[in-house]
Amino acid sequence: MTLAVFGHLNPDTDAITSALVYASFLGKTGTPATAYRLGDLNNETKFVLERAKVQAPAPVPALEKGSEVALTDHNEAAQSIANLGELKITHIVDHHKINLSSSEPLYLRFEPLGCTGTILAKLYVENNVHIEVWEANLMLSAILSDTLHFHSPTTTPTDREMGAYLGQIAGVSDPEKYALEQFAAKSDLGDMSASQMLRTDYKLFTFGGKSYGLGVLESTNLSYALGRKAELLQAMQDEKDEQNLAGIFLSLIDILEEKNLTLVLGPDEQRVLEGAFNATVKDDLADLGPLISRKKQIVPVLEGYLA
Ligand code: MN
Ligand code: MN
Repeated sequence: MTLAVFGHLNPDTDAITSALVYASFLGKTGTPATAYRLGDLNNETKFVLERAKVQAPAPVPALEKGSEVALTDHNEAAQSIANLGELKITHIVDHHKINLSSSEPLYLRFEPLGCTGTILAKLYVENNVHIEVWEANLMLSAILSDTLHFHSPTTTPTDREMGAYLGQIAGVSDPEKYALEQFAAKSDLGDMSASQMLRTDYKLFTFGGKSYGLGVLESTNLSYALGRKAELLQAMQDEKDEQNLAGIFLSLIDILEEKNLTLVLGPDEQRVLEGAFNATVKDDLADLGPLISRKKQIVPVLEGYLA
């Protein structure tokens, strides 16, 4: 079996496209690899793949003990395939905080950039590997998705540079229009259950030895999600019970206004939000203002507060 490449559970556009592009890059540089996914595609990713005329990766098959795998857009076991501990990780390309150990040396490429797609674009350039139109398309789409069209505080000058470079290759004349089309696809939640909405961009983290669930739902219009608040709170309660979590949060992010309203399930969550963010809670909602990046503005604060 060739090297299996995959992004995190509950995959976003970067998780899916980075697996596809990195598998392609590895193949071109002498390591045959196949991209897989750890979950269903969200509406934005479906739109991106259709536009680029690229097939979605298959769900990851059962991997035998000792199988070689490459991780993209994540490195924490809690966000990965269930039996990661018995697999052999040979490569990781990621832009998140590091929480891993390994029993053997491996290839690691971490950079504090806005997107795994940006790191991958750099790998092509550094290694003098030709970037095909579909690859440029996917990397650009991931960058626009992860950086919210360069508006997220995670955005770096390198993301902008690589975005412009990839846009030329992909033949994208109007990146803003392109980004808004992606946002519209991302905001199309009409056919989703509350449980699916919770899991659109949902990750488990360990803070102070306890498990927490952190979901993000990005949209151009929060009124639809707010209208389904009761259902979402129920889905959060179910997940909290099933996974035995110390707390669960779902942040509704208005990607045009750049604002965060976080759903507050109960007193456990309220205490954390009040203590960590000095937030005021009203009607099961905490206004976290401009904190729109889980990676850069939410996780570090919770880690500090709950440690
Ligand atoms: Mn991701
Ligand atoms: Mn990412």
